[in-house]
Amino acid sequence: LIAFAVLVSTLCGYLFWRLTGHFTSSLMVLQQAISQRQIHPFYQPFFQGDTGKIAGFEVLARWKHPVYGYVSPDIFIPLAEQHNLIGPLTRLLMQQITTDFQKAIHLFPDGLYICINISAQNCLDPHFEMDINDMMRKLEAKKRHIVVEVTERHPLHVTPQLNEWLAALRRANISVALDDFGTGYSNLAYICALQPEFLKIDKMFVSQIDNNTDTRLVESVIDLAKKMRLKVIAEGVETQAQVDYLRAKNVDFMQGYFFCRPLPAEDFIKRMRLEVSA
Ligand code: C2E
Ligand code: CA
Ligand code: CA
Ligand code: CA
Repeated sequence: LIAFAVLVSTLCGYLFWRLTGHFTSSLMVLQQAISQRQIHPFYQPFFQGDTGKIAGFEVLARWKHPVYGYVSPDIFIPLAEQHNLIGPLTRLLMQQITTDFQKAIHLFPDGLYICINISAQNCLDPHFEMDINDMMRKLEAKKRHIVVEVTERHPLHVTPQLNEWLAALRRANISVALDDFGTGYSNLAYICALQPEFLKIDKMFVSQIDNNTDTRLVESVIDLAKKMRLKVIAEGVETQAQVDYLRAKNVDFMQGYFFCRPLPAEDFIKRMRLEVSA
């Protein structure tokens, strides 16, 4: 059965790749995925380093194609960026977040962080501003914090317009997290322009933490983040040894399979019920 499942998923992957090889057809498949709402948000919580209490969650897009099955965001997000479909995709996700949680909002403690990944194309897009405002209103965002995660892998082009856009976000009480920190080449000037509230240490560094391995690299990344007096989130935490290390280093927040995988709305709400009643 397992061999069969592997065979089927390899075949589906292969078919998908044949398809995405053709620009126009991948555009159509992705457009259809968005209009038919095949893409859904999953939710992965993150926790206070010291108390272990839930501090917030990150929204991660999941695409289940009716024929090809699950397609990784590492494939379809870059495709959506190429085809200028990030705007409609982000809009779809924000609409779904609102419907997923409108009835469960009482479970969300005050101050909970709601983190959304954005791409360069979301910046300066007036639709994005409208959609995020709409979502904030419906999720009573005054009691919660909306955070947009921008990746360090593809730094944003800093222009006066971008600075103005970021300032408008801050005025609306939306903060920025610099994602995948340590993997890019962003200099201090870039970090100053973004004025992030959070740095998310990439899982590549977290995975280097282990009983016997050299931790100098991860140590200096944490120290750098701490020196900038920003809140630090370690992502991709998978083992008790990593938790112990990060706790000893006073990392503010932790996220990863060790605590919880990204969950569909229904399961996430169940988990929130447990967290809040604990
Ligand atoms: P990311 O923002 O760095 O998200 C973290 C990735 O690590 C997610 O992969 C998550 O499922 C995975 N992860 C979480 N905990 C662990 C762990 O303990 N171990 C390991 N090995 N992995 C863990 P995912 O969901 O496949 O997303 C991949 C990337 O796609 C994201 O990386 C993000 O850059 C992008 N992405 C996902 N959803 C969206 C979206 O709605 N909009 C945009 N613009 N990008 C998105
Ligand atoms: Ca992220
Ligand atoms: Ca990341
Ligand atoms: Ca990543």
